[in-house]
Amino acid sequence: MTDSIFQKIIDKEIPAEILFEDDKCLVFKDINPIAPIHVLIIPKKPIEKISDSKKEDTEILGYLLLKAGDIARELGVEEAFRLVVNNGAGAQQTVFHLHIHLIAGREFSWPPG
Ligand code: 5GP
Repeated sequence: MTDSIFQKIIDKEIPAEILFEDDKCLVFKDINPIAPIHVLIIPKKPIEKISDSKKEDTEILGYLLLKAGDIARELGVEEAFRLVVNNGAGAQQTVFHLHIHLIAGREFSWPPG
């Protein structure tokens, strides 16, 4: 896997508005937000997409979801937010480093586009 833009953010080669970081994950604001709150939750492990994850990734995948809940509470949007994981170009994935979009602060409709 060649370094994605998110790997460069992890490595601090390019800047981002980081909300949280530890040894396993990074949470930062999306550069092109589609809602008043739009943050990305990524593993530091370079998994390209959810369909590439393996049994050994069970812990990190669970950790990312727990972190999403923590961040939603910290941002005061725990009652209404959406998590999105685009998998593959056909599903509009554009950065091939697994990420969870956390979107909040506006009305939602269903089904999503
Ligand atoms: P995807 O379409 O792959 O599910 O989502 C990729 C997301 O990454 C998009 O919402 C896009 O705005 C965001 N993004 C792309 N490049 C950068 C960047 O350099 N910095 C930040 N903070 N977000 C980015």
